[in-house]
Amino acid sequence: SVPSAPPHFVLVPLLAQGHLIPAMDIAALLTARGAAVTLITTPVNAARLRPLADRLVASSSHSGPFRLAELPFPAAPFGLPEGCENLDLIPSPPLYLSFFRAAAALRGPLTSLLRSLQAPPPSCLVADMFSPWAADVAADLGLPRLVFHGPSCLTVLSFLSAQRHGLIGPGAAAAEPFEIPGVPHRITATRAEVPGWFNVPAFEELLRSILEAEAAADGVVLNTFEFLEGDSAAAYGAMLGKPVHCIGPLCLSTKDSVGNVGRGGDAAVDTGRCVEWLAAKNPRSVIYVSFGSLTYVPPKQVIEIGEGLAAAGAPFVFVIKKSEVASPEVAQWLSGEGGFEDRNKEKGMVIRGWAPQAVILSHPSVGGFVTHCGWNSVLDGVTAGLPAICWPHFADQFMNKRLVVDVLRTGVDVGIKGPLSYVDPNSVQLVTRQEVERAVRSVMDGGEEAEERRQKAAKLAEEARKAVEEGGSSYRDLDRLLQFPSQKYCNAAYCNGA
Ligand code: UDP
Repeated sequence: SVPSAPPHFVLVPLLAQGHLIPAMDIAALLTARGAAVTLITTPVNAARLRPLADRLVASSSHSGPFRLAELPFPAAPFGLPEGCENLDLIPSPPLYLSFFRAAAALRGPLTSLLRSLQAPPPSCLVADMFSPWAADVAADLGLPRLVFHGPSCLTVLSFLSAQRHGLIGPGAAAAEPFEIPGVPHRITATRAEVPGWFNVPAFEELLRSILEAEAAADGVVLNTFEFLEGDSAAAYGAMLGKPVHCIGPLCLSTKDSVGNVGRGGDAAVDTGRCVEWLAAKNPRSVIYVSFGSLTYVPPKQVIEIGEGLAAAGAPFVFVIKKSEVASPEVAQWLSGEGGFEDRNKEKGMVIRGWAPQAVILSHPSVGGFVTHCGWNSVLDGVTAGLPAICWPHFADQFMNKRLVVDVLRTGVDVGIKGPLSYVDPNSVQLVTRQEVERAVRSVMDGGEEAEERRQKAAKLAEEARKAVEEGGSSYRDLDRLLQFPSQKYCNAAYCNGA
């Protein structure tokens, strides 16, 4: 029969910033509409999420019960240093595979936890695509399961298309072009552009289990919206034969309820100081540069980016990760008299570590975004109405770039040739300071094409806002999502169609 209690969604995100942050956003959306939410995490990640969670619970729009459930993370048995509970804490990319295996070992503890949860008991699992092991948990407990996809719809569609063309698996032809259905312009891609990370057999296995878990799921949830990717979403739903819920951009969901300061990390700068600095600049004059939470930029490239920015003339905010600042070469170039920061103290702000990105991007003084094209960052830029300079490094970032540059036409390509090598990131061909300068000028200087991109970007931001408002497409899909657990029970054979 149809459960009368409000639905209880259990979210199982991948333990990485780009997945935990949207999971918090989904929690905010669902609880604001009265659903109960349990977000599965681990002690280290829970500590990072706690301030946001506390604000969520305290916010006026929140009404359903919310809890962060912590499961101990089995780092040591999988050869990971203690405390390595987030992909951004993994010291060396080859250990990523151990990380995925350790996460999969949460299957037993999660099943026990979910058995013990009551008032209300879980009614639906929403598991990240990178937690395919959650399919077994849902099957063991007889729970409906939806897959949450972190990347753009174009990315997951290309992934599925590659599979249908027999291009996933060891020995698949990396350079053979195949067509992606559904997008307004005819787009072909190659296996090399589709998410693959390391091109090693064990990762191909992970990709296969992701596709299997998706094939067995009851539906999918996407962080996108109809105006942005409606055609891809329709093609994707048709290929999968399952309900697709486009409920994004998720980054808009926590803006009012919990604010967006310190989303998923302790900002390395005082947000108030950033805002003050930005307020002294002209409207749309500042370029913001950040490559997300995982991408490592080698020292020589950091220096080329900085010098290119300085030469382009526009004021800039340049986020450099702690791991990158740790390089003596970068540290020496940045600091001291005559160092990069000193030479650019009027027009440049360097942030060493985690930046309050959403706050910076939505400031009216910011006019462009140099991004690695992680999907959350792309959406941060879309909702802020910003043109982009696309600098993909790995995973879904190349397909996200294709969307921004070729389909949406709100960005330019900085000209990266291929995925970052995890064996030796330093082996990747440098983008020179001249190329950086040229790309920044093409977006920030006022030519006709730049103006066109700017107008298109402003339109996307407006449509993003409309999508999440009552009556909008994402609001409607969220309604469907909220009804999903009871519909699912209803449609089940044992339900007599009640
Ligand atoms: N982010 C942030 N400050 C930073 C770097 C990243 O707030 O200094 C946030 C950003 O807003 C986004 C997420 O972290 O929500 C990064 O996710 P994305 O998908 O862009 O990239 P990933 O880190 O997964 O490569």
